[in-house]
Amino acid sequence: MADTEIDRLIQLLAKLPGLGPRSARRAALYLIKRREALLAPLAAAMAAAAETVRSCSECGNLDTVDPCAICADPRRDASLICVVEEVADLWALERSAAYRGRYHVLGGTLSALDGRTPDDLNISSLAGRAGAADVIEVILATSATVEGQTTAHYIADRLADCDVAVSGLAHGVPVGGELDYLDDGTLSAALRMRREF
Ligand SMILES: [Zn+2]
Repeated sequence: MADTEIDRLIQLLAKLPGLGPRSARRAALYLIKRREALLAPLAAAMAAAAETVRSCSECGNLDTVDPCAICADPRRDASLICVVEEVADLWALERSAAYRGRYHVLGGTLSALDGRTPDDLNISSLAGRAGAADVIEVILATSATVEGQTTAHYIADRLADCDVAVSGLAHGVPVGGELDYLDDGTLSAALRMRREF
């Protein structure tokens, strides 16, 4: 394949999650046809993001300032730390507006299969943060997958010496969920974690 600018654009787009070569070609054509409205602004936004976005040295969130806006916000509840796998999970919790504490972004999960060890994740600084006097509870909000739960158990062990409560998310029937449509794992977890009515 001739290595033109268009080919280069397609090859890079194909590296994005959810985009294969075919959809990358479509996306590239779509962008090129909308040079002024989309391609140029997108290129500028990407350059600006590459220049300014960094990881928060406190929690691992992405922002243009360090510490991030959440860590720096005095209105956030400093007694709560919610541990998530990725920044996307932090965003999901922020969209729910149900949580007003602070976060700790791991950057993934432990995985024996993929060779990801605690050293590959943002774990070592968590014990220090959890040990701070104003922290009362650490919420382990990792995925309900084997790797997510393995990671949560590992962190709970690491925090055993800290004077904090360690909790995990409930697993159960989704809001609006019909029992008939649930997978067996969700249904059995919901039954195990039943509560007084
Ligand atoms: Zn932060």
